[in-house]
Amino acid sequence: MRNDLVRKSIEKLQPYEPNEIYCDIKLDANENNGATMLWNEKIAKALMGLQINQYPDTNAEEIKGILGRQLGVQKDQLVIGCGSDQLITMLFNAFVDSKDRILTLSPTFSMYRVACDIAGGITVEAPLGKDFEFDYFTFIKAVKKVEPKMIFLTNPNNPTGGVISREHIIKIIENTTAVVVVDEAYYEFYGETVADLVNYYSNLIVLRTLSKGYGLAGARIGYSISNKTVTRVLKKVKPPYNVSSLDQIAAKVCLENKVLLQESLREVIEERENLIAALESVDEIKTFKTKGNFVLIEVEEAKLLFNYLTETGIAVRYFGGQGPLKNCIRISVGTKEENRVLMKAVKGYFIKKTESLASGVSA
Ligand SMILES: *Cc1c(COP(=O)(O)O)cnc(C)c1O
Repeated sequence: MRNDLVRKSIEKLQPYEPNEIYCDIKLDANENNGATMLWNEKIAKALMGLQINQYPDTNAEEIKGILGRQLGVQKDQLVIGCGSDQLITMLFNAFVDSKDRILTLSPTFSMYRVACDIAGGITVEAPLGKDFEFDYFTFIKAVKKVEPKMIFLTNPNNPTGGVISREHIIKIIENTTAVVVVDEAYYEFYGETVADLVNYYSNLIVLRTLSKGYGLAGARIGYSISNKTVTRVLKKVKPPYNVSSLDQIAAKVCLENKVLLQESLREVIEERENLIAALESVDEIKTFKTKGNFVLIEVEEAKLLFNYLTETGIAVRYFGGQGPLKNCIRISVGTKEENRVLMKAVKGYFIKKTESLASGVSA
């Protein structure tokens, strides 16, 4: 194949390659490990009635019905995607032409930039402030200067865990004509939302997913909440039959049995606080405030700790030694037992490091 057949905007991209090393304990993708087998029996039962010869319901009406009732919005304010990742792609297909600018934070979720690159748009990043806290004045200045077509706010932010107040989000919406996307992937752990504001602001879109809190990452279900004018635009670019009937059944089971989830969420939040306390008890580690199901830490020679944990069979997220996250590692909150094993390994690493320094050998 001739190389010049590939679109210019794709040429320089790297394929997304999650952790390729197998680890017993997976704390690298913000999954809900406490919910591993939570839904299986109910999903298996529900699958018995599946007519897989038929195409799925392209608009996932049943799921929208359940979500609509739970959220207090109309079905025509919802779009269901194959993960919220697909909704992000749909947003770019709907709103971003080549050379259009989008504004987001730094550091934040990498998919906005990837989707923007593919669309041929330009990603402008406004830096977070001290300790990765949201810096409203820097951001609003960027809004005025960049005049973006679309703004992405991740709340709580991944990978830092910090949040943006409702007041600040409202001020941003009121100071721009751009489409403002608030990605609430970690809403279930945080509990605060701006979804209710979609009835007041026609340029606001809230994204949610069942991948994190619900523990349904394998099923790929995300949704957007917006004004119905936006929904109509998104539906123009939505691939038909985008969510498989298997995934729709899994989502339905999960949304109809939310009580099961509450216990699991409580555990994650409790474990998050225990994990933060345990990490902070290690002198060499600095932690950042988080409202997600993960904790970002800063540590000297983060790569070495990352390697050590990987070799021990614990997968965590390392960001590659450059930029604002160069000494950072993101650790997803696991089960009580997983967190215990993690902390044992972390402490073991620093003991080994001190010993080898004392004996004059580098760690
Ligand atoms: C994990 C994550 C998503 C993607 O979720 P899917 O629904 O699994 O595609 C979107 N946004 C943020 C901020 C995330 O961390």
